[in-house]
Amino acid sequence: MKMLTISPIRAFSDNYIWLIVRSNQAFVVDPGEPGPVLAALEAAAIELSGILVTHHHYDHTGAVDALKTETGCEVWGPPDSPAGPYDHIVAEGDTVSVLGVDFSVLNVPGHTLDHIAYYSPAEQALFCGDTLFVGGCGRVFEGTPPQMRESLEKLRGLPPETLIFCAHEYTLANLRFARLVEPENSALSAFLSACESKRANDEPTVPSRISDELACNPFLRWDSPEVRETLKTAGKLAEDTADGIFTAVREWKNTA
Ligand SMILES: [Zn+2]
Repeated sequence: MKMLTISPIRAFSDNYIWLIVRSNQAFVVDPGEPGPVLAALEAAAIELSGILVTHHHYDHTGAVDALKTETGCEVWGPPDSPAGPYDHIVAEGDTVSVLGVDFSVLNVPGHTLDHIAYYSPAEQALFCGDTLFVGGCGRVFEGTPPQMRESLEKLRGLPPETLIFCAHEYTLANLRFARLVEPENSALSAFLSACESKRANDEPTVPSRISDELACNPFLRWDSPEVRETLKTAGKLAEDTADGIFTAVREWKNTA
């Protein structure tokens, strides 16, 4: 049985700060702005007990100090982080108790070198920051494309029903790009239509499930014959390997 209620707090133009609630206590994930978080806490009459940080970028950590000062909450985050040090330094193999529910920490470097994710099998929930998006993945700023692909391969192996709580609403742009890469993928067309309907009603498209991403996300589909053929035909495939396919899709998206 699921113990936690998870809902988005909108921040900046397209960030989601995830609010995790159990009775009158809350955690937030990747708070970039304090105002929307404090307003959500007040509106629900709940107290903030903890913050989970996935990586150091300002739009994920900008509110950490203000929220600590305001609420006295504790902060979990990765080692060697430019935005740290945090109260609790965690890395792969560690477990974080979030309001009584265990989350395993996964190292997922690539977007940044300090990037981690938090996964709970009981809640079927993954907080993955800017590593995996609905229909896409983060840009590779600090790591290498093979390192990023390895991180995504780790996430790809989670149970198909796992909910993907990523940190941005980039879905429509991602899925429209995905259609260039795999025009014949009918699951992708159906998923894009469903997401377009949600956005037309100003609803979040996040979370998706791992099963959606396996079917539609070109950054997890280096095994797809159609992805490979499209890249080859377009003259974009320098190296015909999993890393080569991932790298080519990432470079194409960077300039699309
Ligand atoms: Zn980031």
